[in-house]
Amino acid sequence: MKKNNLIAVLGIAVLLLSGCSVSRPEVAQPVYDTAPAESGGLYVNGKYLKSYTAEETIYLRMDEFAEAMDSSLDVQPGIEEHECFLTDSIGNTTAYTTKTVEESGSSALGAIGGGLYDGSYWYQPEEDLLSGFDLHRLEDEEANCIYYTSYPEAEEIPEGVELPVMMYHAVSDNCWGIEELFVSPSSLREQLEGLQRNGYTTLWFEDLPYANRVEKPVVLTFDDGYEDNYTELFPIIQEYNVKVTIFLITGSIGTENYLNEDQIREMAASGLVSFQSHTVSHSRLTGLSAGELEEELWNAKLEVARITGKEPFVFCYPYGSSNNAVVEAVGQYYEFGLLMSGDTYVTGEDPLRINRKYVARSTDIESFGSMVSS
Ligand SMILES: [Zn+2]
Repeated sequence: MKKNNLIAVLGIAVLLLSGCSVSRPEVAQPVYDTAPAESGGLYVNGKYLKSYTAEETIYLRMDEFAEAMDSSLDVQPGIEEHECFLTDSIGNTTAYTTKTVEESGSSALGAIGGGLYDGSYWYQPEEDLLSGFDLHRLEDEEANCIYYTSYPEAEEIPEGVELPVMMYHAVSDNCWGIEELFVSPSSLREQLEGLQRNGYTTLWFEDLPYANRVEKPVVLTFDDGYEDNYTELFPIIQEYNVKVTIFLITGSIGTENYLNEDQIREMAASGLVSFQSHTVSHSRLTGLSAGELEEELWNAKLEVARITGKEPFVFCYPYGSSNNAVVEAVGQYYEFGLLMSGDTYVTGEDPLRINRKYVARSTDIESFGSMVSS
């Protein structure tokens, strides 16, 4: 819908401008940055594209944008007009059109329809990309950063898909805390082998629009962001090539027994780990004032975005503690909310009250199997 609108608008602009003899339109030249600036940056799906300055129009280089969007880019130069096509991984194509304006002694080309082609690279203003690709835009004024993230909204998820969501915490035989929270690495391997043998596909919440395209979807979640998720869990998921979601307590990042920022970035870059939000301080949200609640939700969101370059959109309630006011507040900042133990979630049910199945140290492979399949 948006794609068609965009093409229509661009098409009208092309017609209007080519119909009358206009001189070269005034288009500000974009600033082409190549290295992250301390002052901030502009990120698409975790990929740094350029430093962020408060230009009136922010242009993004389309080849870099395409890479960040897992899309292919096809630029077709024409005599009068250039066309640029971006096709995402599931085959949706968005087209952009720009008219060339020749300039003697220069390869620089003017543009209309918002795009710019400088003879080597194609640039497009952020607003076009935002509307063409349904990207979510999170502005972090304090850090002078903008994070564009593609993630689904709850209403984009097909209904009626049975979705077992498994809940883990630590993965280690060194049980320095409550023993049941530490799943043995050998048990985890056994469970992943069982899932693969029985034809399950591990999904992120990012994948839920396509949950009905796999026969047996399953979501593996790990709460709190323990350091063993890097030392023990990460090598195992690389070996089995499975996707997991980790919920970070942002106030604990970098402290003893918790993941640090470098570990988080490395795991996020692997394409196997999606980092989401589990508040700043792991407080029971039902005991907080409205102001405190908002800080826990917003500051945790910003902090995860600052580390990963992606806006988190899934929230995990500490201790599963929630009431109507808490759920409503969570819904203002996040698309999905995860509780503790319960039945299998069926898509279409309340996305802010998603039940999970608790995998504990004492969970044996038989009970794991029946938890996943029931
Ligand atoms: Zn927790």
